[in-house]
Amino acid sequence: MFKNLKFFLQKLFSSKYVISGKCNKCGDCCRQITFSVADKLVTDEQEFLRMQNFEKKYKNFEINGKTEDGVLLFKCKALKDDGSCGVHWFRSVNCRLYPRFNKMFVHDGGEPLDRCGYKFSVDKKFSEYLDKKP
Ligand code: SF4
Ligand code: SF4
Repeated sequence: MFKNLKFFLQKLFSSKYVISGKCNKCGDCCRQITFSVADKLVTDEQEFLRMQNFEKKYKNFEINGKTEDGVLLFKCKALKDDGSCGVHWFRSVNCRLYPRFNKMFVHDGGEPLDRCGYKFSVDKKFSEYLDKKP
């Protein structure tokens, strides 16, 4: 019982990741998209063609480059030149939730794209951990 309560309190008062800032419409998240198949990032153009044949939604994207590691980057065809979304009211759930993140992503050093107006941070300062009495 005491163990459960301790766990609950630790969970309640532990630091949390927070998102701050706002979208500046740089459009980078819509032109640096990665896809994965079976937890593996897509690196092969032929594979992307197969994906397009298999699922129509992939026809909304075009190849837009590669990372240094060879991972393909895609651009959404609905992205307008001014960085806004051409299908704003009909965009997908993923687009609506962006930049949603999972804790492990941030924990492992994941950050928003360079020009993104959002920032990930922890709601507790480092000094607060140092001040904590044992
Ligand atoms: S649908 Fe709109 S928000 Fe989603 S990736 Fe395309 S341009 Fe970006
Ligand atoms: S990368 Fe960030 S600032 Fe740029 S369009 Fe996407 S959400 Fe907005």
